[in-house]
Amino acid sequence: MTVKPGKLFINNEWVDAQSGKRFDLINPATEAKLTDVAEADKADVDVAVRAARRAFESGPWHTMSARDRGRIMMKAANLLDKYKDEFAELETLNNGKPIGETKNVDLPLSIQCLEYYAGLADKIHGDTIPVDGNFFNYTVREPAGVVGQIIPWNFPLLMAAWKLGPALSTGCTVVMKPAEQTPLTALRLAEVFQEAGLPAGVLNMLPGFGPTAGAAIARHPDVDKVAFTGSTEVGKIVMEMAAQTNLKRVSLELGGKAPNIIFADSDLDAAVNGIMRGIFFNQGEVCCAGSRLFVEEKIHDQLLSKLQASVEKLVVGNPLDPKTQMGAQVSEEQFRKILGYIETGKQQGAKVVTGGAPAANKGYFIKPTVFSNVKDEMRIAQEEIFGPVVCAMSFKDTDDLVKRANNTVYGLSAGIWTRDIGKAHRLARDIKAGTIWVNCYNCFDAASPFGGFKQSGFGRELGKYALELYTQVKSVWVALD
Ligand code: ADP
Repeated sequence: MTVKPGKLFINNEWVDAQSGKRFDLINPATEAKLTDVAEADKADVDVAVRAARRAFESGPWHTMSARDRGRIMMKAANLLDKYKDEFAELETLNNGKPIGETKNVDLPLSIQCLEYYAGLADKIHGDTIPVDGNFFNYTVREPAGVVGQIIPWNFPLLMAAWKLGPALSTGCTVVMKPAEQTPLTALRLAEVFQEAGLPAGVLNMLPGFGPTAGAAIARHPDVDKVAFTGSTEVGKIVMEMAAQTNLKRVSLELGGKAPNIIFADSDLDAAVNGIMRGIFFNQGEVCCAGSRLFVEEKIHDQLLSKLQASVEKLVVGNPLDPKTQMGAQVSEEQFRKILGYIETGKQQGAKVVTGGAPAANKGYFIKPTVFSNVKDEMRIAQEEIFGPVVCAMSFKDTDDLVKRANNTVYGLSAGIWTRDIGKAHRLARDIKAGTIWVNCYNCFDAASPFGGFKQSGFGRELGKYALELYTQVKSVWVALD
């Protein structure tokens, strides 16, 4: 596949950055230049926000029939389906994830997400409320307005779909900044929306860097709402910038350090598959990755040897090969950061059961890594590694386990493996996390909400819950006398 150079997409036109600057994209599997794209900064964000404001105030998007809005979105979903092989390859080239995953996970979930919100467009409405006195009171759900959306590089297309689905469905207009490492599928998605008939200015796609383009969006006084997915560190900065300028509404989907808990009574083969799915899916570059593995003491050694045998069979390599199960980490920076954590783990006394080193001479490949002898306070057990590294710890007592599982600043997700239904529900109640998976891991559906407790963020994406993020409620009182 030849990859075209990219431009900025503003007001349904492809334009260069005002500065004329461009930046290179690297194929993380080969370290070779893939292409280059225009680099947006504050000046381009200003133009895009003006286009989005015009489209919001006078364009047809939120004033057209909600059903017609849904039709355009459904057309975009159908086009994405039509071009899915091209999108899957583009995503794999840019991100390094295996083609089997882009084809079987990223694309189907992105299409499903756009279909879901296309279908929801004409089902967004307020209530009539019985109030005291001779009044008729009703609520209207109005779109939030111009929204800024800043997304990460781990699921470039899917994160764009999660954000655009509810924003467009509710009638908002959007300025989106894809991650600087992976803007290609987001740009191609903008083209798909254009082909589907989205009016000018409704969607603006601006590749660029965080501290320039991203900050310009978060600070912009004419952006009504900012939605951010990325690190907790940057999430805090985004919130501060939003507060310091116009107090725009904020939703944040941030980091995680999820416990994946294996009880002795679980189906151990299923649990091993779940552990692998939890930490090695997408090279571990998943905010809800099951990175802290808690294993009941009496099965600890047995489970770890089963896990080691399975991990050592994982096929790591060329992401374009359909047989590959783990591809390359997204960038050299990420590759080095993960290897740094692996070194820290070794220095702090954890034991490498398997992996713990690069997996190739060229490309940012890391061997799937399992640490045992991990202590709760070690850095590898506390900090988000965002790579294929799982830290195994053992437990005896369930109450103590719950405390340890909750002993983290994060609260995005958790996995529980047991055949005891009461225990499963008890833990589902007691663990402070936005998503709990029982005897499964990393399951997603456009209809089911996703988001964090604690410093994993706030606001729920997906499902009807995401409509809260992109609408505001107006209460109307009418005197009946
Ligand atoms: P990671 O550490 O996983 O790369 P980041 O939180 O740095 O995650 O990046 C997520 C998104 O936030 C990217 O689109 C990035 O460009 C953007 N970003 C990074 N720094 C800032 C910033 N200071 N202001 C706004 N956006 C930012």
